Amino acid sequence: MEAERLVVIGHPVAHSLSPVFQAAALQAAGIDATYEAVDVAPADLPAMIARIRAERLLGNVTVPHKEAFHSHCDIIWDVAKRVGAVNCFWCDSAGQLHGENTDVGGFDAAARRVLAHLPAHALDLLPSPTGQTVALLGAGGAAAAVCEAVSAWPGARVRIHARTAARAKKLAARYAATAEVVPSVEDAVRGATLVVNATPVGLHDDALPVVPEALENGAAVLDLVYRRQRTPWVQACRSRGLRAHDGLGMLLEQGALSFERWFGLVPDREAMWESVIG
Ligand code: NAP
Repeated sequence: MEAERLVVIGHPVAHSLSPVFQAAALQAAGIDATYEAVDVAPADLPAMIARIRAERLLGNVTVPHKEAFHSHCDIIWDVAKRVGAVNCFWCDSAGQLHGENTDVGGFDAAARRVLAHLPAHALDLLPSPTGQTVALLGAGGAAAAVCEAVSAWPGARVRIHARTAARAKKLAARYAATAEVVPSVEDAVRGATLVVNATPVGLHDDALPVVPEALENGAAVLDLVYRRQRTPWVQACRSRGLRAHDGLGMLLEQGALSFERWFGLVPDREAMWESVIG
């Protein structure tokens, strides 16, 4: 697949790290292409989709367009269909717009690392975690990606708590073999081996999705939120002696998996990590 221009579309999107680590991946692979962030207000999404088709752009989709983008695709790959959201797209030679979801693989890799006591940037291939009890806070698109990934782990259970109970119920019903809704955050984290924040809490403020004291002593913590100076929840959980990673590992891995879809090449993950933490 050949391409000259890649984009990430979102609103807002100026803060996105994707242009940084994708530029590193493109350079390491010797691909002559650019990757830029394009701010697209919700009302402008149809016009942007028309541009993507006309210019045969490849790229990523971020908040708030992942679900809306899904409905504009000609071909939706199976994982994106089940999750109901697209974060990676490309146009084929016949001009058809493909939508895929690599957030699922991104979460899966990040969760395996924190559960295996490895750093977020470890590149080891790890087996599926078994028998996990996952507390999932939030019930939006990112939470759906978590449910999709965890539903493939042998013997795993997910306890979802979200402030809008109807949304949590709808998500749990889609993953009924694995997921259930619980009435409080305390019910969700009691006995949980992995606690995941899939809300934006802590993104723009110092609020915590749940106090670390409520978590089990051996619990692993994965905050899907990413901030340049660690999230307040990750800091608080580490201070309490828990293993805790922020959302950078998931973000980088969804980008690496997107790169594989676009070019059929394995990107240089080390170069991608160096570009953002080096
Ligand atoms: P979303 O679809 O808008 O869902 C957000 C969820 O969080 C909903 O359940 C929402 O409840 C809840 N929520 C929002 N504000 C809250 C608050 N102040 N207190 C408690 N719950 C609140 O968003 P999303 O796409 O799932 O993304 C969620 C977060 O995950 C994002 O902010 C982003 O930081 C992170 N994320 C990270 C990655 C990564 O690669 N690291 C990828 C995707 C997402 P309501 O339904 O009541 O609004």
